[in-house]
Amino acid sequence: MKKISLLLSLFIIFSCAKDSSELTVYTSRQPQLIEPIVEQFTNETGIKVNLLSGNAQELMERIDIEGEDSPADIFMTVDAGVLWQAAERDILAKIDSEILNENIPAHLRDSKNEWFGLSKRARTIVFSSDQFKDNDFSTYEDLADPKWKGKLCLRTSKKVYNRSLIASMIDAYGFDKSKEVVSGWISNLATEVFSNDTNALKAVSSGQCGVTIVNTYYLARLLDDPEYNNLSLFWANQSDRGVHVNISGAGVVKTSKNKKNAVLFLEYLSSNKAQDFYASANKEYPVLIGAKIDESIENWGSFSEHTINVSKLGSLQKEAVFLAQEVGYK
Ligand code: FE
Repeated sequence: MKKISLLLSLFIIFSCAKDSSELTVYTSRQPQLIEPIVEQFTNETGIKVNLLSGNAQELMERIDIEGEDSPADIFMTVDAGVLWQAAERDILAKIDSEILNENIPAHLRDSKNEWFGLSKRARTIVFSSDQFKDNDFSTYEDLADPKWKGKLCLRTSKKVYNRSLIASMIDAYGFDKSKEVVSGWISNLATEVFSNDTNALKAVSSGQCGVTIVNTYYLARLLDDPEYNNLSLFWANQSDRGVHVNISGAGVVKTSKNKKNAVLFLEYLSSNKAQDFYASANKEYPVLIGAKIDESIENWGSFSEHTINVSKLGSLQKEAVFLAQEVGYK
């Protein structure tokens, strides 16, 4: 009997300890991009992190269904449009953290503090250096000019990345002017839209088209292969609002029983020691000013970015979808 109660109390102590020293992260990011940083966090803090990977929409659904019993402490994903949806579904907690506010520029986090950008993803112009030169390009809007007829390749507007790009234009110019621009893009298409950025880049490299708009990390990956060294990056809109920037980010789940450690984890990811690495893992850009960028993308130089608050990319998402439909952008 004594033995049993000893075992029972040990179990209770163990499970209490377990509650306070473990975190569960629901993430749509590829595990290999975050595992090393998670390991570093565990080594430094003793807090174990369980990763549950999946599709962002399914993970949000799951948190919703699990309700109060959800083991999720953190929801991590890519694109402000998706994080905005999570906040709309009311599954994220408001977090008041001086460290997060200090490390993450205001335009890269939710204005209501429900989610935070942890890396920056720039979406810009990439062209074939066999066909064009740097000074042939200026802005996203210029790609609507008839001089680009039959030269432009685009990824589908069904991808949230392009919806967010269109949302950023709606914010800058309003619906009608943005519609004109996107309609011009569609008239200039060399071929059907692509299902992903990599295929759009390959089409530029092979000469099927001359220019496209992609997230820079896809270009960085392809440039590891000399076959694609005719692909050149151009930083769009440098003389006006700047390059369209999106984020990967995360928020603390409203029903988390470990909010303190969850915040600690986000603070860690925004810190200097994590930022260099976190952004580099996917050849993205750090959100923390002054953090190192990956060597392989250093030669693209610095760029000025559109400092629209990324929450707007979410709130204008519906309008962006409607605009794409109106102009027949599949
Ligand atoms: Fe991507």
